[in-house]
Amino acid sequence: MGGRDSDLVLLDENGIRCDGRKVDETRNISIKAGVLKNANGSAYIEFGDNKILAGVFGPRDVHPKHMSDTDTGIIRCRYHMSPFSVTERKNPAPSRREIEIGKVIKEALRPAVMLEKFPRTAVDVYVEVLQADGGTRCAALDAASVALADAGIPMRDMVSACAAGKVADTIILDVNNEEDQAGQADMPIGYMPNLGKVTLLQLDGVLTPAEFKKCLETGIEGCKQVYEIQKQALKDKFFANGEQ
Ligand code: ADP
Repeated sequence: MGGRDSDLVLLDENGIRCDGRKVDETRNISIKAGVLKNANGSAYIEFGDNKILAGVFGPRDVHPKHMSDTDTGIIRCRYHMSPFSVTERKNPAPSRREIEIGKVIKEALRPAVMLEKFPRTAVDVYVEVLQADGGTRCAALDAASVALADAGIPMRDMVSACAAGKVADTIILDVNNEEDQAGQADMPIGYMPNLGKVTLLQLDGVLTPAEFKKCLETGIEGCKQVYEIQKQALKDKFFANGEQ
């Protein structure tokens, strides 16, 4: 947060954002399920200029064995950004940020997955960010949810994710990279649309209580839009012959 590029107009006098969107508009989102033949489940998402692949294995034996739990299955997540995903080559070794985001995605998915049905096993989620443009944790979570469903893993609900935030003292939906860098707040949200439960909530920046409420409501509306696209991606794969 905090005005790095002073020439950048985040919101013009007509309420249009730096990438031409209205305040309550998401970027273009497209999701394709079942894109990898060697994973049990997979999905590819384009969320604006973010391009992300998610692959799921499991439930399968846990290695190392001491990580397994006799009462329940476990979920693990590796989030990785490719060296070419950002303008300056990113060191391919896992950074603190990537380890944190892997943990955040895992924790956001866990309430949705019926892990108790698979004691002693692990579900592994691998996320590969091919191109990053702000909001990769939300887009990765969206792809990971579809990949889990594609793998046939029993779930209570889908997790749909989208950020909301604040630029030019205005609450906006789906924060892009420039808005994240120069704006006032970024709030990534993961939400289970049918259960009405939030599974991811982070906030970078400062909001008043009223702004916080509006930001959360705005983000949840975005999650509901994402949910429709996730469902359609699964229908497109499993009803490829046209029946819905
Ligand atoms: P998120 O991608 O979930 O918004 P961050 O807020 O940490 O997570 O990152 C915001 C954006 O900053 C990323 O989406 C990416 O476009 C950019 N970014 C992250 N790491 C790097 C990096 N090592 N080099 C350049 N840009 C980066």
